[in-house]
Amino acid sequence: MLGAVFQKLRDRTSIRQQTALMAGLLCVLTVTAVAGAGAVLARRQAVADTDAALVTLARTMTERLDARMFERYREIRNVASFAPLSPVWTGDSAGIRSVLAQLQTTLPEYAWIGFATPDGTVRAATKGMLEGVSVAQRPWFTNGLKGPTVEDVHDAKLLDGLLRTSPDQAPFRFVDVAVPVKDDAGRVVGVLGAHMSWGWADEVRANVLANDRSVLDAELWVLSRDGEVLIGPANARSFAGQLLVRAGSADGVALIDDTGSTPTLTAVVATKGQGDYPGLGWLVVARSPVATALAPANRLFATIIAVGAFVALCGAFLALLLAGHTMRPLERLSRNVDLIGRDSGATMVGWQHGSQDVLVMSASIRSLLRRLGSVIESEREAREAAATLESRAAEQMALAEERTLRLGKDLHELQQLAVTDPLTGLLNRRGFGPFGADAMGYFRRKGTAAAVVMLDIDHFKKINDTHGHGAGDAVLRSLGTILARLVRETDKVSRFGGEEFVVLLRETGEAQALILAERIRETVAATSIMHDGRELNITVSAGIAAIIDGDRDIEDVVERADRALYSAKTSGRNRVALASDLASAQVA
Ligand code: GH3
Ligand code: MG
Ligand code: MG
Repeated sequence: MLGAVFQKLRDRTSIRQQTALMAGLLCVLTVTAVAGAGAVLARRQAVADTDAALVTLARTMTERLDARMFERYREIRNVASFAPLSPVWTGDSAGIRSVLAQLQTTLPEYAWIGFATPDGTVRAATKGMLEGVSVAQRPWFTNGLKGPTVEDVHDAKLLDGLLRTSPDQAPFRFVDVAVPVKDDAGRVVGVLGAHMSWGWADEVRANVLANDRSVLDAELWVLSRDGEVLIGPANARSFAGQLLVRAGSADGVALIDDTGSTPTLTAVVATKGQGDYPGLGWLVVARSPVATALAPANRLFATIIAVGAFVALCGAFLALLLAGHTMRPLERLSRNVDLIGRDSGATMVGWQHGSQDVLVMSASIRSLLRRLGSVIESEREAREAAATLESRAAEQMALAEERTLRLGKDLHELQQLAVTDPLTGLLNRRGFGPFGADAMGYFRRKGTAAAVVMLDIDHFKKINDTHGHGAGDAVLRSLGTILARLVRETDKVSRFGGEEFVVLLRETGEAQALILAERIRETVAATSIMHDGRELNITVSAGIAAIIDGDRDIEDVVERADRALYSAKTSGRNRVALASDLASAQVA
């Protein structure tokens, strides 16, 4: 089905179009492949770069946090162990308060600095806050008694009410640093504690983000060791748990967080502390939406596709031009081949240059035309030869036919001549033969009667002698005419020789023959023959014989008729005698 459609499409498009289409497709395929591979690589690179940048960002943040914490930690420790201040701690409250106030002025993030005696009572504090109040239960105090300590971020407890200026204000959050203060003998005389408002960390965050612009739309969160959100949105806690589970280790891990609505590239780096500051194990999370990271790669992909489409179009157009150029000799060849047989002069095509294929094809067509030409030539020759033979044969046939006709005619004439008496035109003795034999046959087979009348002119010699031979011939011819006129068509009249005539009468008995013979005798006797202005009168004598059983052939019958004729002559001439009478007379 698909094959048939493909076939039809191929048959309906030219090689030019097919080539252009193929070139276009090839360009599109190449460009798509290149663009696809480029996009994959670019996206992968973009993700890797962003991940690295996010890790760097997070690390910068951890370092800043650690550095700041270390400074505060060292500061408080230095103040606590600063020898010249040693008498102050055991002196009056005002002295201590003045030192603490001075300390606070150096850094605004110190929200509260206080000195508590070993029993947990605040002896002196900045602005006198909480003085006389017991902090014996506060972790910073209990831990600070044992040694230098840092307490993780927590909401303000005792100080909240004192520091708050309006009820809408967000709860104060502190990081506490506390160190034991010892006298010269090394006994603990109190605990120096500082509450730093956590707001400074947010400033650090803003500062880091402002300085490092390598990642667009970056976010920085800070989580406590156990997942508490220290900086970041409230829902960051739920992310944090998942991140920690998935990351396993929280140092420099980069991963795609797709738990939210928008997939986000995420890097997690833990704080490690600095110097003798042990660090609080905070987790700094740097985040950026995947889409933002991929935007340049996507732009690159779109650019490649656009350029590729343009290149494909150009390629198809160039292929169209090129294919047209390539196909021109082929088109010329086919035009020339088409002329053969239409144009009277066209019998051969010329060489076509342009490509090896075209050259080979034109050579093949030329060879084919030459072969065809010789076939046609020999066919034409054969046709001509056949036509010549045919006409010659027809000629010969006509000649033969004519000759045959002529021969036939001659033969017939000869035959006629052979059986005809030239003077009278009657049958001669040879001509009479077959008729006599036929009558004999009929008599024998069917008993059909037949009779012979023999006639002889009386004293014919006298005519010749008196009037000449010409007159005798004229008399003979006239007698022939009379005989032919008197007998029936089926009867045969013949001249046996001299002035002797024999008439064969078919289906005629002796009696009927007698009647006819008498009529002949009377007619002849009554007829005057004109010759050279003279009237010639003759008479004839006749003898009649009918065929009878015992006759061997017609000659037997003629013989009896001759004898009857002789009888007629001897009994006076100009009369008719019957052979039967003769026989019966003999018998008698
Ligand atoms: P008869 O009555 O006894 O028959 O007497 P005749 O004179 O007729 O008989 P004969 O047999 O003695 O004579 C026949 C003559 O007929 C002799 C011959 O010259 C003549 N004759 C024979 N053939 C021809 C012929 O073809 N033409 C002419 N003009 N005469 C012929
Ligand atoms: Mg005679
Ligand atoms: Mg005679």
